[in-house]
Formats: sequence, structure tokens, C-alpha cells
Amino acid sequence: EPCGSRSEGPHNWCHRGLSRRFLRQQDKSWSGNNFGAYRDDDGRPVVLQCVREAEARIAGSEFLESVSASVSSKMVEESVKLVYGKESDVVKEGRVAGVQALSGTGACRLFAEFQRRFHPESRIYLPDPTWSNHHNIWRDAQVPERTFHYYDPDSKGLNFSSLIDDVKNAPDGSFFLLHPCAHNPTGVDPTIEQWREISYQFKVKNHFPFFDMAYQGFASGNLDQDAQAIRIFLEDDHLVGCAQSFAKNMGLYGYRVGCLSILCADSNQVGPIRSQLQRIARAVYSSPPVHGVLLVSTILSDPYLKSLWIEEVKTMANRVRRMRTTLQDSLERLDSPLSWEHITNQVGFFCFSGLTPEQVNRLAREFHIYMTHDGRISMAGVTTDNVSYLANAIHEVTR
Ligand code: PLP
Repeated sequence: EPCGSRSEGPHNWCHRGLSRRFLRQQDKSWSGNNFGAYRDDDGRPVVLQCVREAEARIAGSEFLESVSASVSSKMVEESVKLVYGKESDVVKEGRVAGVQALSGTGACRLFAEFQRRFHPESRIYLPDPTWSNHHNIWRDAQVPERTFHYYDPDSKGLNFSSLIDDVKNAPDGSFFLLHPCAHNPTGVDPTIEQWREISYQFKVKNHFPFFDMAYQGFASGNLDQDAQAIRIFLEDDHLVGCAQSFAKNMGLYGYRVGCLSILCADSNQVGPIRSQLQRIARAVYSSPPVHGVLLVSTILSDPYLKSLWIEEVKTMANRVRRMRTTLQDSLERLDSPLSWEHITNQVGFFCFSGLTPEQVNRLAREFHIYMTHDGRISMAGVTTDNVSYLANAIHEVTR
């Protein structure tokens, strides 16, 4: 039912001929209470101590343009060391083109735009499943999408052989999105040996790996260990891209601080690639806000604040891991006939429980326990106080 006449009035949901049905569509991909933000053992959001101290240090700073440009490049310089390693050749040789981005989402979107402009014939291969917004981001950037096998519902682990087949069968030089650690939504990461094999096959096929690293530190509790997959690709001399987010590992969800980096064959390419990324950003939002980036650059460039942050990441990751063990133990103590080993085999914020949509509905209806329909539990929401209630409820709907 097209509309568009002026007589519709200013409060009518009608936009220049678009059908009302279209405008009434709701965005079902957003579920506000289910994103991967950390909660403490009392279920409360956390402001990290390193962030509080950085806030105190920057209070009263003058946010002049010249300050923001240098702060932004300092943040990028420190961020890329977290990904590639501060002693890595690519960092020492200055072969990383990096820009500040609007958190992990903004970094992915900038890259998708870059891909469409400079590799217009290419597609993006996304893991099946993946964070649902990946589909939206590459679709809106008008990059054709394919998926590759990733999760195996039977083993609740990685479908490695099919993944490798898909890598081999994709056209040479394809773009693949990989989660380097704490895969969302499955919590299933390849082993180091499997990463080596993936990297080798990418080399054979000349594929481009784009890493979306939204949870560095949350898989193992150690930032370097969580970057192992990317470091393996570096050893094999790949040119890679990486989206980083400080939303979860610094608890800066609302500040939108992230970084997009692209490795270059030599340092001469860095300036042109960085300026192309900045051109794309300029037309969309001009420049990112300065407050969050000031926090991140203050933390990353101060040895005391950085070590405090590293400890706090470990504390958060360990709490989530403890809850995994407790949940699995509690289900086993209830004599559940099912295997729950995958709860501790999976890593990071999410547990891909294997619960069916009907079981998920029952948990919501009868127990007021909420998770996404695919059975993904946000482990950060599990606490010492609620874990046995959760285990009992899961047992009830699965026996
Ligand atoms: N990438 C993955 C895999 C995610 O899970 C998320 C957030 O849920 C993001 C990117 C986006 O994070 P941000 O909040 O930093 O935009």
C-alpha cells in the first residue's frame, strides 16, 4: 500500500512512497538484554578499575581537534600491538594501516565498504553460524555473502573437515571472516593445530583472512594467547585484516571504541590504505568521538594501568570459566542423562547449549530464564547465586 501524499501529516509513519508494511517491520535482530556484556558475580555491570583511574587522569582534558588526532593514532598504535604482538616484524617494520573505528561493528562495516570498493568482484564467506550482525553489515555494504561450515550440532564442536572442504572449494582469493577467539555464538574455537591447517589452506588458495576480534582475553584470560590464531597467520606471511573492540574487554560498551587494521606488503602502502579508510569514515560519520579513545589510549600507554587492565581481564574471564564448570557439575550431579561436556569445552562469553527452541521457550515461560532462540546462553549472566536454579531448570526441560 504505497503512500506519500502530504495529507498523511507529519506524525504518520509514511516515508515518500515506501509501503507502510515495510515501515512496520521491526528489527528482530536486536535483543537488548542478550548482548555480550560482562556482569559480575552479583549480576551487576562492571566499571573496570583501570577505566576509573584513567577517567580520573583525563578529567578536565581539553578535547581539541589536535589532541584527538594524536590520541587516536596513539590508541591505534597500541591496539595493533595487542593483535600482532609488540615484538612482531609487521609492527616493527610499520606495515600496519590502522584507523580508529566505532567499536567492533564500525570496524567491520569500514572493512566491508573497503572490500566493496577495492575488491568489487569478491564475496565474503561467513561462518555458519556467526554473530547475526555480520550478515547485516556485509549485506548493507552490498558485498555478496556465502557461508562456510563451522559448527557441528552433533558433537557441539567444530566441523573441521567440512570447514576445510569449503576453504578448498571457494574461488581462489576469496575473503573469509574468522573469529580468532571466543566464537560468537557457539563458543567453539579451532585448536592451534587446526588454525595451522586453516592458515596453510588459505595460503594455498590465496584467500584473505579478516579477523573479527570482539572478545580478546575472554577465551583464555590471556590477551596474547587469544591472539594466537592471528599470530599463526603472520608466521605464514599472510596479509590480514582485523576488527578490534574494547566494548567487552574494557567494559566500554557505550563508548564505541575500536580499531580496524589491515596489514600491508610494505610500509609504503600504509599511508594510501589508511587514507582510503579515513575517506570512507569521513563520508559516514566524519570522525569518531574522543572521550572513549582517550580512556583506551591512556590505559594502553601507561604500564601501571595496562597491567591493571590485564589482571582485570583475567579476573572476568576466570569468573565466566568458573561458572561453566559449576553449571556442568550441577547438571551432572542432577543425573542428567545428557552430556554437558560442551559447556566447558566451549570458551568465551557464550555457551551454545544445544537446547531446542521449544526448550528455550519453556525456560522463559516457566522459569523466567532468557536466552537466544538458538539456545545461546550468555555465561556472563550466570552467577554463584543463580547457577543451581539455572541447572535445575535446564534439567527439568531436557529430561
Ligand atoms: N563481532 C562480534 C563477533 C560480536 O559478538 C560483537 C558484539 O556482540 C561485535 C563484533 C560488535 O561489538 P561492538 O559492540 O564492539 O560493536
